[in-house]
Amino acid sequence: MGHIKLTNVTKSFGAVDVLHGINLEIKDGELVVFVGPSGCGKSTLLRMIAGLEKPTGGELAIDGKVVNTIPAADRGLAMVFQSYALYPHMSVRQNLAFGLENTKMPKAEIAERIGEAARMLEIEAYLDRRPGQLSGGQRQRVAIGRAIVRRPVAFLLDEPLSNLDAELRGSTRAELAALHARLAATMIYVTHDQVEAMTLADRIVVLRAGRIEQVGTPLELYNSPANRFVAGFIGSPH
Ligand code: ADP
Ligand code: MG
Repeated sequence: MGHIKLTNVTKSFGAVDVLHGINLEIKDGELVVFVGPSGCGKSTLLRMIAGLEKPTGGELAIDGKVVNTIPAADRGLAMVFQSYALYPHMSVRQNLAFGLENTKMPKAEIAERIGEAARMLEIEAYLDRRPGQLSGGQRQRVAIGRAIVRRPVAFLLDEPLSNLDAELRGSTRAELAALHARLAATMIYVTHDQVEAMTLADRIVVLRAGRIEQVGTPLELYNSPANRFVAGFIGSPH
């Protein structure tokens, strides 16, 4: 589970075409990074997969099912944003439970999932604190935890580390990579940072002005960039 396929997906805001005919297949369990300069359409593409924006054209399928008209909540995905979007008046535990409590899930199952996510992210000691009492790095773990407890078929992360300082960004990136290996879930990770893309990705999708310039492994992109833009962006000597 967690196979995502886009066929000729387009997006316009009014008269402005933001994404042009995107074709892309993401395999189950892959960590795919969308990279490209600010404004190239990374977030819009991710938000369409999430169901927060509707494609103007084309087809979007998850696990073989066309989801163009399926609401975000029913797609089995979880999104992690740059701004943590935690509820300040709730404890960490309540933040993690939020969303699960609206389902018919038994309380014991909710508690078990929270315990598991907290252990995985090493935030067990903070469960009864409020977000305001946590550091930026801890808050971002809670935001990731909130995605994990939902056991989604895919995680969608939009520049999740860009609010962290350089040192913390490095360590959290390494933890994310370990988490991906452990969860074996599909992850789509959006960043404008080439280093993040090169170190995290199974495959990189390079976007420029609403078009895919190249898709490949970090090594493929580095060794055989399709054009000067990719070479320049990836930092390859070609
Ligand atoms: P990125 O995440 O790569 O920085 P975005 O996907 O946020 O880029 O934006 C791509 C383009 O779409 C930008 O030109 C942006 O201004 C435009 N855009 C994004 N969202 C909207 C919106 N809701 N209404 C109008 N234009 C938008
Ligand atoms: Mg963005």
